[in-house]
Amino acid sequence: MAHRFRDTIPLSEQQRLVRRSIREICDNFDRAYWRDRAQEGTYPREFVDELIDNGWMAALIPEEYGGAGMETSEVVVMMEEIAANGGGFSAAQAVHGGIYNTVPLVEYGSEELKSELLPKVADGEASIQAFGLTEPNAGSDSTSIETRAEKDGDEYVVNGQKIWTSRVDQSDYLVLVARTTPKSEVEKSTRGISMFLVDLDDALAQGALEMEEISKSVSEFVHSYELWFEDLRVPEEYLIGEEGEGFYQVLDGLNEERLVIAAECVGLGELAVERGVEYANEREVFGRPVGKNQSIQHPLADAHARVQAAKQMTYDAADATGGSSEEIGARANMSKYLAAEACFEAADAAVQTHGGFGVATEYDVERYFREARLTRLVPITQQLALNYIGENVLGLPRSY
Ligand SMILES: Cc1cc2nc3c(=O)[nH]c(=O)nc-3n(C[C@H](O)[C@H](O)[C@H](O)COP(=O)(O)OP(=O)(O)OC[C@H]3O[C@@H](n4cnc5c(N)ncnc54)[C@H](O)[C@@H]3O)c2cc1C
Repeated sequence: MAHRFRDTIPLSEQQRLVRRSIREICDNFDRAYWRDRAQEGTYPREFVDELIDNGWMAALIPEEYGGAGMETSEVVVMMEEIAANGGGFSAAQAVHGGIYNTVPLVEYGSEELKSELLPKVADGEASIQAFGLTEPNAGSDSTSIETRAEKDGDEYVVNGQKIWTSRVDQSDYLVLVARTTPKSEVEKSTRGISMFLVDLDDALAQGALEMEEISKSVSEFVHSYELWFEDLRVPEEYLIGEEGEGFYQVLDGLNEERLVIAAECVGLGELAVERGVEYANEREVFGRPVGKNQSIQHPLADAHARVQAAKQMTYDAADATGGSSEEIGARANMSKYLAAEACFEAADAAVQTHGGFGVATEYDVERYFREARLTRLVPITQQLALNYIGENVLGLPRSY
């Protein structure tokens, strides 16, 4: 595959190593592989196993627990490459949770929990692919979650419902965010929320978890679920961090994760531009390649410029560790916002370039388009990213 459009930013030696290694792995999974996964709706097990075998799923686990101890500046390269080399945003999403859900454990987990679990995750013996925050009545307004975890002896008893919890079918553990104190009883809505690790096999064995897959029209090979908990008993050792402080623990690390999502959008945008250019050069209409027409050429060139601008911002932000949390948050939200818009434009241009074949599954660009649309919704919507910029950067009044 041509990488020439996307090798635009000078990388450190470490980043170049990540790029080369991920490209080598991705080269074993061609376009047909990803198309088949999407058509069959089957998880890319072989691809993920290869990442596990080469230690990539342990990217953020410290070396002392058997992980790679990578920095955000390297993870952005990894995830951009996974998306750009044919897998798209969905391929990145297939592994994103498994990599990022180890972070709360690393940062806040007890030493016992860390030494018990992290080496197993690093070896691929266990996975923490699922993260349950969103509920039917609490999406953007996440402090309105109602799932309760009440202390009973040396256990917590969980009751409630989650929605859109992804990759539960590929996971041994779920990171669950639940209220240990109801919203009405805390002085600040961000208090009284706690984070737990849930052993999914144990939850099913207790008969305390029911799950149903959500039928959706995008990311077919990454399944999302609705979950119901009824009197699920979680041992107190599975509380991650401090009781009542879970929301702050979720927020911590969120900016770095948002930058990585931005990198995944950049990768999808680059993939779409590459496929658009390929077809624009190949397809002849009126005796000349369609790419000779500026109405085809300019949208691709425009999208390329925007994707690369978003990439520059994302990479700069991943390198810059300094500044207040508002400044880091501003850079992360701006990067995610711009990268999602840029990849949407790139995917739209790629579809238009393909004419009727733009909607034929065999050319893949229709999948990229649906994925690009999704990036405007997750993990937070574009409006919520703009809210952050409006409020925290521009000093405009809070809208909620
Ligand atoms: C494929 C997929 C996978 C997902 N995976 C997970 C997962 O693994 N774990 C998990 O916990 N969640 C997951 N989610 C949930 C996702 O994080 C939420 O869908 C997202 O945060 C938006 O919440 P919502 O859908 O409830 O939208 P709502 O909060 O209901 O918002 C509806 C609309 O109103 C707008 N809006 C609301 N309030 C404001 C405001 N104050 N200002 C401006 N606009 C506003 C929103 O931007 C949006 O456009 C997933 C979602 C999808 C689609």
